[in-house]
Amino acid sequence: MKRAIQMLGALALAAGFFLAAPAAHAADEGPYGNVTCTDFPTQTGGWPTDNSHYKTCFNYNNQRALSIKSVLNGLRSNVKTALVNADVNVYYFANRTQANDFFAANPAYSNGGWGVFKSNNARCGQTGHYSWTNPLPPFQLNHKIAIAIYDDCTFASGQVDNDFLQKVAYHEAGHAFAYALAVQFDKTNGPDVSPGYRAVTLYDKSEMASIATCTLFSSYTPSDYEIDLGASTAPVCTGGFVNPGYDTMDNDDIADEKAPYFVNQSGNLRYGELWAEQFSILAGGVGGPGDFFDLTDNIIKQNRMDCSMFVVRAYWFTNQPPGPNNPLVGYRTWPSGCSTTPSESDLK
Ligand SMILES: [Zn+2]
Repeated sequence: MKRAIQMLGALALAAGFFLAAPAAHAADEGPYGNVTCTDFPTQTGGWPTDNSHYKTCFNYNNQRALSIKSVLNGLRSNVKTALVNADVNVYYFANRTQANDFFAANPAYSNGGWGVFKSNNARCGQTGHYSWTNPLPPFQLNHKIAIAIYDDCTFASGQVDNDFLQKVAYHEAGHAFAYALAVQFDKTNGPDVSPGYRAVTLYDKSEMASIATCTLFSSYTPSDYEIDLGASTAPVCTGGFVNPGYDTMDNDDIADEKAPYFVNQSGNLRYGELWAEQFSILAGGVGGPGDFFDLTDNIIKQNRMDCSMFVVRAYWFTNQPPGPNNPLVGYRTWPSGCSTTPSESDLK
């Protein structure tokens, strides 16, 4: 009897919850893996706060949530249009574990074993993209894209405060933009791993030999984040002179040591990381808010890796590759220093 009453009570509570839920939390997702995500209440500024692609998934600090919103609202309108058209969602989680728990249990992100939305090594954020083609007519290509930003980063040293929140938002938006362009072009992958972008990246690295070593690397020291991404800590130059050890190395090999996550091109992932970081420079400046990526960004920025940057810049301004058909005159002709000039189709 007691048991039955308890059950009745539980049922009443559940019904009450269901009746109240639609009005108060129209777009709650979850709980999935004990994590519930809710639309951010301030719906102004366009994507992702456009009713709604910005979801908070823990008891967040409002100033920090707003700092992510302001960064993403501030992206160029053509970029945001591509992100809206691709239905890119942004989730703000307490940490990586909670993000993984949510994505693993949420059928919208785990149907068919879409493991790309989880990560065992993402530090402060992660952007997942899954593409699939209907097995039956009309056989069209479909995409699912989600950005996860973690309030705490997970480094090799353990969990630490995410002091890089805005830089992470810019960088992850760069990944999402590449995937959104895959949607725009009806392709499986984005221009970040296109044969053309890979070719100009390798060309840029070969051209590092023509830049003075201390111009390229200066005396920047890596942030905690860059160190966790594998950057070695010793300054390449001191007082304008190349330090011992680096004086016998080629610039592209030093770059591999100082920004390995971005320019040590061992696979498709690395090209995507360079693309996302170059996007973050266009969106948020070299080094980003807090100058946390000075070492990396000064190696890969315009006038350093000029030809790959030209590709990302063309997309940033026009959503199209550089080449004769680009809508802007300035992106129809490659910079004179770029002798590797892939076709527009090779850059999609
Ligand atoms: Zn990345």
